[in-house]
Order: sequence, then C-alpha cells, then structure tokens
Amino acid sequence: MKIFISCDIEGISGVVASGVHTSPDGTDYERARSLMTGEANAAIEGALNAGATCVVVNDSHGPMTNLLIEKINPLATLITGSPKPLAMMQGIGKDCAAAIFLGYHARMGTPGVLSHTISGASVANVWVNDMIVGETGINAGLAGYFGVPVVLVCGDDIVSREAKELLPHVRTATVKTAITRQSALCLPPERAQALIRQETEQALASLDSARPWIPDSPVTFKIEFKDSGLAENASRMPYSKLLDAKTVAFSADDYLTAFQGLQAMIALAR
Ligand code: ZN
Repeated sequence: MKIFISCDIEGISGVVASGVHTSPDGTDYERARSLMTGEANAAIEGALNAGATCVVVNDSHGPMTNLLIEKINPLATLITGSPKPLAMMQGIGKDCAAAIFLGYHARMGTPGVLSHTISGASVANVWVNDMIVGETGINAGLAGYFGVPVVLVCGDDIVSREAKELLPHVRTATVKTAITRQSALCLPPERAQALIRQETEQALASLDSARPWIPDSPVTFKIEFKDSGLAENASRMPYSKLLDAKTVAFSADDYLTAFQGLQAMIALAR
C-alpha cells in the first residue's frame, strides 16, 4: 500500500506569522520547518502503523525545500525542490492508495490562518466548474484524476471545515483553531503529532469508504486575480478567456491539462 503525503507549512501547529515562519529568511523559519518535519513524521508513522509499505512525502511549500531530510523517518522517501510538473502533488499516481494533506491552510477570503490560494500576492479566488475551491480542492481534484482519494486533511479549523464541505468521507486533524489570520490557539507539537498519527491510522483503516473527488469533464478553472493587470498577463495563455477585467478561465477535457493551465496562468500573471 503506497501512501502519498503533500506537506505545506501554513497549517502546521505553531505556524502563524507570515514571513517570520514561512519564508527561508524569516527569523523563526528554522523552528517552523522543524515543526513541519515533526508533523510529517507523525503522518508517516501513522501510515506505517496502518500497513503502508511505501510512503512518499512531497514538500509543498514555497521553494519546496523546507522539510529536513536528515530528520525524516528512513522508511519514507522525500520529494524536495521546485519547480515540479505537479507542484504540490508531485509523486501522486495511479499506484497510490490514498493521499494525505498535511499543514494545509484555508482558501483565500476565508478567516483561516495564513489563508490564500496558491499565490497570496495575486490570486483572489479560484473555481473548478463554478465551485469555489482552495488548495485542498484543487489538489484533491488532481488526486481524483489518478483515482486516488484524499483521506485526511490536517491544519486549522477553517481548512478542516473546507475539506469536509468538499469531501464527505474525509477525516481531519485540527491542530490549531484560528483566532485571526495570523494568530491561533495551537496544540503543542507532542499533541498535534499524536492526533495526526491517530487520524492517519483511522483514515487508512476506513479507506474502503473513501472516494476520489472527480469533477465533471470538461474541466474549467476560473481565476479571479487581485487586479486587472494580473488577469491581462494570465490571459496571454493560449486558449484562455478573459471573462471580465480580473477573471480568466481555461478549460480542458481532462483535469490534469486544466490543472497545468491553472499553474501556467498564475505563473504568467506574475
Ligand atoms: Zn504554503
């Protein structure tokens, strides 16, 4: 049984401050990446306890070189660095039995800790086939393209709610409760990691009831940018459509192509 783990940083317990915790030049970044590595190991351990024979962790935040490989459980493997064709989902494939999202955050415009959707600087909202989604939805759709269910989402209470609204079978591990966009009531690492370990085991024990999330085809991604200039840049992408001053759409017959279009438009916008 192969398990795929996508690991972001904004949803890790103790991580609340933009830059300070989340960027490599942040004054408290070294602690944040160590907490992130601790939560990754908790999920790896839970997966191994549940019978996983192969665990692949994909570093999914910023430059994607955050997780400390020397501290990662030696029974797992780590995908590190960027860019990667599947971005936060590099490593997912038909051979995976389940996907786990760790350290995830709520979508832009919701009151979650460090909430954003792919690019905090440029993206206001993203829709898949008219359903508003955050990174949880965008990445769950790509897992679904490969027939893989997302069984567990870990982060704050707001991303937990977002995940449950979209994926009826998903389990969540709420490691912190948002107070404001940059403050939260947090579980200390020991408790956060115990919760993640336990939820991973339970999520994999009930794998039979989990279903991949597969949006209807053709798949349309619609992006509302923060200003018209960003949308104009994104609309240089072939086959995209400028719907209004700030909104660009791109459709494809399959989710993977639509996802690649989404990534390309956001890169072009900047
Ligand atoms: Zn991130």
